[in-house]
Amino acid sequence: MREVLFNQPFQVGTELGYVGEAVAAGLRSGGPFTRRCESWLAETTGAERALLSHSGTGALEAAMILAGLGPGDEAIMPSFAYPTMATAVVRQGAIPVFVDVDPRTLNLDPHQVAAARGPRTKAIVAVHYGGVGCEMDELLAAAQGLVVIEDAAHCLLAGYRDRSLGTLGSLGTFSFHHTKNISSGEGGALLVNDPALLERAEVVWEKGTNRMRFERGEIDHYTWVDIGSSFAAGELTAAYLWGQLEAAEEITRRRLAIWQRYHEAFAELEGSGLAQRPEVPPGHVHNGHLYYLILPSAPARDAFIAAMRAAGIATSFHYVPLHSSPAGRRYGRTVGDLAQTEKLSRRLVRLPLWPGLDSQSVERVIDAALAAASDVTGSRA
Ligand SMILES: *Cc1c(COP(=O)(O)O)cnc(C)c1O
Repeated sequence: MREVLFNQPFQVGTELGYVGEAVAAGLRSGGPFTRRCESWLAETTGAERALLSHSGTGALEAAMILAGLGPGDEAIMPSFAYPTMATAVVRQGAIPVFVDVDPRTLNLDPHQVAAARGPRTKAIVAVHYGGVGCEMDELLAAAQGLVVIEDAAHCLLAGYRDRSLGTLGSLGTFSFHHTKNISSGEGGALLVNDPALLERAEVVWEKGTNRMRFERGEIDHYTWVDIGSSFAAGELTAAYLWGQLEAAEEITRRRLAIWQRYHEAFAELEGSGLAQRPEVPPGHVHNGHLYYLILPSAPARDAFIAAMRAAGIATSFHYVPLHSSPAGRRYGRTVGDLAQTEKLSRRLVRLPLWPGLDSQSVERVIDAALAAASDVTGSRA
């Protein structure tokens, strides 16, 4: 039987045409496709300004510069997260402080933030896991006086209380990596929400120069004015991404339909205590970025993955907790016992979810997962 793949990047069909247009127009940096993508992102999310990047990681690195992080400063973040937000902090000479997550949403726990906050704390970096937002009201309350950066890599078209994720903190970042809902292979964006950071954001983006002001005709030459790097995406990336952004709602609808089918089918697993499903608390709008199950133990999770593989279905898991990773130990510190993080990283499994996954394959995943979860927890007679 054909293998059910874990993820396949989705192609709308318009991308190559736009890439051709970009080439014909000369691939000028900051050209029409970059401007179109940036306007779309700002208008769709309600951000003050969106800047298109070569990667989500690049956007995070720019965010840490703009947050003013320096040697000895601390940034509180979940240990259950992707490594580059920690790297971005460490590159500034600052210290990532790892705390535990809320077991319901696997997101940064505002109580842990309050407990970890100290005189050196300068920023909070929150991940909205799987496109389901953190409890931002509580988090923003715990973060009074600090810079809040949202790693919204998973979150395009996801929201919290009528606001787009990525626009609730001072800064937010998106990723358009090939594993994300909307993709240009590599790509990302920075959302600047605090108007006070806008001017510096443009400088940091343009290699530490005021070239963007020059391009707008506001000054008669441009020069080096601050630190920065080359954070922009090229027009080739922007052109491809434009095809994806135009279809973003349709792509999201398709993902949500698969997510919803899984969620209904696995209600019985949760009911009988064989697995925990994702939770979307009231007031949150998610975007079907990923679907996971949490098995009752580490051996059950590993046996589940093996059983799925035997049934021809690829699954995946993450994250290796940052606090126990080699670089996390070297550069960061930990507050609390991180019990939820340890548990999750050993028990969570992700199921195939991509817009081109046909309904027959979805049903195969469901049948195999229901059987595997019963088998590995020893509850099948
Ligand atoms: C993918 C991802 C990143 C990194 O984005 P890139 O575009 O691959 O650099 C950062 N944070 C999270 C949560 C991610 O999922």
